[in-house]
Amino acid sequence: MTPHVEPDPQAGAAVKAADRAHVFHSWSAQGLIDPLAVAGAEGSYFWDYDGNRYLDFTSGLVYTNIGYQHPRVVEAIQEQAGRLATFAPAFAVDVRSEAARLIAERTPGDLDKIFFTSGGAEAVENAVRMARLHTGRAKVLAAYRSYHGATSTAINLTGDPRRWASDTASAGVVHFWAPFLYRSPFYATTEAEECARALQHLEDTIAFEGPQTVAAIVLETIPGTAGIMTPPPGYLAGVREICDRYGIVFVLDEVMAGFGRTGAWFAAQHYDVVPDLMTFAKGVNSGYVPLGGVAISAEIAATFDKRPYPGGLTYSGHPLACAAAVATIRVMEDEQVVEHAARIGEHVLGPGLRELAERHPSVGEVRGLGAFWALDLVRNRDTREPLVPYNATGAAAAPMAAFGAACKKNGLWPFINMNRTHAVPACNITEAEAKEGLAALDAALTVADEHT
Ligand code: PMP
Repeated sequence: MTPHVEPDPQAGAAVKAADRAHVFHSWSAQGLIDPLAVAGAEGSYFWDYDGNRYLDFTSGLVYTNIGYQHPRVVEAIQEQAGRLATFAPAFAVDVRSEAARLIAERTPGDLDKIFFTSGGAEAVENAVRMARLHTGRAKVLAAYRSYHGATSTAINLTGDPRRWASDTASAGVVHFWAPFLYRSPFYATTEAEECARALQHLEDTIAFEGPQTVAAIVLETIPGTAGIMTPPPGYLAGVREICDRYGIVFVLDEVMAGFGRTGAWFAAQHYDVVPDLMTFAKGVNSGYVPLGGVAISAEIAATFDKRPYPGGLTYSGHPLACAAAVATIRVMEDEQVVEHAARIGEHVLGPGLRELAERHPSVGEVRGLGAFWALDLVRNRDTREPLVPYNATGAAAAPMAAFGAACKKNGLWPFINMNRTHAVPACNITEAEAKEGLAALDAALTVADEHT
């Protein structure tokens, strides 16, 4: 595929100048960033004004699950804009009802009621509010090595260091260690050991917090930003059992792992667990218009049958976003995107990344499934010392920066977080594109190897 626009560096410079003058970027030191000016995107690729094209191994922020500019979704948004561009949440609107129906039909178990939000963090906020009102309890347990969003409660639930600046507002949030065998918090050496110890640790945490005070346990089904750590067999079922025993609401956050990313509609389906509340966003409409939500069990929905739910957002279930969701879900069905993601993971990305690990000493571990993979980069495979220290910045993070630059030089836009790179392309990435990405990673890992 070639860029659809002629290179135009002058236009790119103007875009960049206005950005630097007026756009305040998220998670950034404003004076230290140099954002790329993007001229266009299609499918798995985007390109800049200088004529450089990149294979997007990040899917934006892990959300363009069916790639950029899918014509059916673009058309659905245009059609909806011409028909009814917006309407307030209190009304029944055809496209909103249809989106809710299509989502509810795909969520596991009895998660049949959909509360719409404008994104992932708002979904998490509302899941916590629902759990607190349902149980009459206040505390919420969340895992270290997690990301749940940047709003007030969601950032406090978040276990990665981005929480620190907001920590003073963390009343009611208690963190615990979820399983992660490669860097086991429990000194375990097998998955079974890791699972058993992680469940015991969670039980101990609940015992010392007081089970009667715990409203919810919030977990990403497969933690995404924190490292794509697939849970050991039995862990999520064990958490489900603990929640049932203590009357705690089990919230699974599928904002990143949902809608085909893992080769299933929802990651929970790989583990045969049904939470009480499940958050989603991103892939629900490939992020073409902001949308998120909470899928709610019959029991929790019943809590708010006669008693009003005290929460809502102006743009909840926005018709343009819902039109994009309806079109995206239909595309995923018609083009078998979920099955494709499973296959590309099993036959191309998984084997390809493991083969890279065999040849590159900087790859400590390959984890993932579907279109959801992480490479844990290390200085030393035996000690598992990360390629850059935890939460490193500046010079300390230089080896990862050099790796990232090498990816870009080879036409791949990489996802980088601390000592990890994630291969999280569009779920409908072709086999040829996936192999192109693997070749670029191969070249870039040579640079990472220099630091081992
Ligand atoms: N939960 C998870 C698991 C996420 O990955 C994210 C975003 N990366 C969020 C919540 C927050 O979503 P948003 O940025 O749409 O608020």
